Amino acid sequence: MTSTTVNALAERAVTVARRYREAAPREFAERHAVPSRWSRRTSSVANLASALGIPADTILVRDDPQRRYGIDASLTPGDLYEIASDSGHRWQFIPDLTGFTPSWGWLLLGACPHCEAPSVPVARVAGLADLGAHLDPESEHHGTDTAPLEFDGDPGHHSHCPYATRA
Ligand SMILES: [Zn+2]
Repeated sequence: MTSTTVNALAERAVTVARRYREAAPREFAERHAVPSRWSRRTSSVANLASALGIPADTILVRDDPQRRYGIDASLTPGDLYEIASDSGHRWQFIPDLTGFTPSWGWLLLGACPHCEAPSVPVARVAGLADLGAHLDPESEHHGTDTAPLEFDGDPGHHSHCPYATRA
């Protein structure tokens, strides 16, 4: 390994730490308070990066502001994975908790065609093929026909949406 590579590693590491401090200051400062969560998130970032064929340092994981998991008092915020492209588009994924391999499966968040809420689950993604199939759908599939089960009742919908969580 050349010294240039090592220098680049330091530079990339510092860049990622700074991005976390800016985007998710509280979560980052308190990341070692729940070591199992930070460890799980870090390995899930590596999985997502591998699944999409992108560098892990382009993915930022933070507390999901809309989805919490668990029972009663033990409710904890979910994971929200964000990937910012050079063009300014921001991809958002949450974990897919239904699969055989919970640490290898995600739900792409996108706009609801009914209430236009910006971040509801629109596609189940385990790899590039799933993402591509969502971005370039076959003509006979459209609208919510291909949305994952989690689309219905997701807390990201506006309250007037027919797919909003029912009390
Ligand atoms: Zn909606």
